[in-house]
Amino acid sequence: KAKSTRSGHHVYLDDDDDSHGGERLRTLDELRRALLDDQLVLHYQPKVDLSTGAVRGVEALVRWEHPGRGLLYPDAFLVLVEEAGLMPAMTQIVFEKALDQAATWQAQGRALSVAVNLSASSLVDADLPDRIGAMVAERGLAPSVLVLEITEDFLMADRDRAHAILTRLRAIGVRIAVDDFGTGYSSLAYLRELPIDELKLDKSFVMPMADNPRATALVASTIALAHSLGLRMVAEGVEDSVAYADLAGYGCDVAQGFYMSRPIPAAELDAWLASRDPAGVRPEPAAYS
Ligand code: C2E
Ligand code: MG
Ligand code: MG
Ligand code: MG
Repeated sequence: KAKSTRSGHHVYLDDDDDSHGGERLRTLDELRRALLDDQLVLHYQPKVDLSTGAVRGVEALVRWEHPGRGLLYPDAFLVLVEEAGLMPAMTQIVFEKALDQAATWQAQGRALSVAVNLSASSLVDADLPDRIGAMVAERGLAPSVLVLEITEDFLMADRDRAHAILTRLRAIGVRIAVDDFGTGYSSLAYLRELPIDELKLDKSFVMPMADNPRATALVASTIALAHSLGLRMVAEGVEDSVAYADLAGYGCDVAQGFYMSRPIPAAELDAWLASRDPAGVRPEPAAYS
């Protein structure tokens, strides 16, 4: 993770962890201004149903349109958001934007679920479930339109608390996905007890599939495990046609990855969706830069 040091009220992020280029100096002032001046934007990445090719949902991923430095990715600023204590504020903004977009799609007659990532620091906020319920209702959305992506790490850290939080969230009707699945050594017995809908297999397992048969075998058995628990399996990091076809062959339910589309602004996603065959055939390879 990005190392940081403090100097006065400025925070300097070390550059080791930022794979997206750009300059490194970020100040708290800049971050506060980003929240106030609406510089955070969401990009959306489609989740493709592997049995039909249809897109039934997207994941919302936050970016910072920095006035001087261009588009910044989460790896470059989420640590700072946490350190500054601004994660609750960011989470609120992300929910509002994602749910506004979901309402827009609903008004256009497009049935798309929207997945939002939740940090551990946001999850422990006791008011969060009620706020989410209210935000969903205000927009006339069915709660099941919203998927909350919660990392396996969080679920493992304090099991009783995680169970209680998930139970409350599930009670309002939103769906729950376990993000970064496979990286946190959760036990089958434990996962069975949780009110979850979907496992998102981490991309570190999916990306090696193209050139490593053992990686493929591991993924195949993990898909079987998910299904034995009655859970949908989503594979992220699908970068090529080999992984796409293998995952479909192993009965994986949903695929997400650069092979189909990178995360893109909503307007671009609308165009991407419109350009696909309405019957939902598989995408052409590598239609991205
Ligand atoms: P994540 O939730 O596991 O999201 C998946 C990440 O994998 C995204 O990176 C996505 O762009 C990337 N990805 C998707 N398909 C591929 C692929 O085929 N190949 C490769 N190499 N990468 C792929 P991104 O957008 O940089 O987000 C990184 C992480 O930042 C997310 O991981 C999530 O943990 C966090 N994050 C993003 N948005 C939010 C947010 O609104 N709130 C919170 N709390 N965290 C967020
Ligand atoms: Mg996620
Ligand atoms: Mg993930
Ligand atoms: Mg991940």
